[in-house]
Amino acid sequence: MVTATNAYNKRMDGRNFDELREIEAKVGVVKSADGSAMFKIGDTIAIAAVRGPRDLYPRFMQNPKGGILRCSYNMMSFSVDERIRPGPSRRSREITLVTENALMPAVDLSEFPNSVVDVFIEIVQADAGTRCAGICAASLALADAGIPMRDLVCAVSVGKVGGKILVDLNKYEEDYEDGSSDMPVAFLPRRNEISLLQLDGGMKKEEILNALELAKKSCVEILEVQRNALMGKYKNG
Ligand code: UDP
Repeated sequence: MVTATNAYNKRMDGRNFDELREIEAKVGVVKSADGSAMFKIGDTIAIAAVRGPRDLYPRFMQNPKGGILRCSYNMMSFSVDERIRPGPSRRSREITLVTENALMPAVDLSEFPNSVVDVFIEIVQADAGTRCAGICAASLALADAGIPMRDLVCAVSVGKVGGKILVDLNKYEEDYEDGSSDMPVAFLPRRNEISLLQLDGGMKKEEILNALELAKKSCVEILEVQRNALMGKYKNG
């Protein structure tokens, strides 16, 4: 068993402490949606589908000054070994909310009064970092749908495991007994803006600042993959 006293000198999957898991991204994966994307990081896979802009009902929810962004995050029952009860949970509601807030600064819905843009995020396979993978996929799906955007949103989890600051924790690392802190970060690279920052566990101020730098550096790598995915669609017609 792994305990707090165990220093984490070598990552269980052989990665460097500042190394992301392998990433794959693709847009246009759901034909019936207005925009869609798949984002895979290690064994975590997120699919995002965008529908809209379209008229928002009931009418009292409409905003005449612009459209609203409405997200929905769901982890599929079979996405992890121990089957998850289907339907909304406290966790899925929390992640839906933080995802919406993370994406909001990147989209400009001022041209679409009284309308809604729906973003459906499904986690089909999970090995930690699902909210970040979901945000990366959603940002790509919004761009694929042609929604006016100020920036792409890149997201990754950083943290401290067995005393080491590292990026993109997998489930083994998240569960490192008594010795793990997890800090999901979403970043808008062009605007140099952080739109999601959560912390599960404890880290000192200096460690948080180091982890944030690592997250920003890693988000630039993620951005490259996202850009290639978007350009790939047009290259391939
Ligand atoms: N997880 C699970 N069952 C659940 C919820 C989560 O097995 O009901 C796993 C899954 O691998 C997930 C990880 O725990 O990615 C970490 O979940 P957390 O709530 O920290 O969010 P995430 O890191 O996925 O954004």
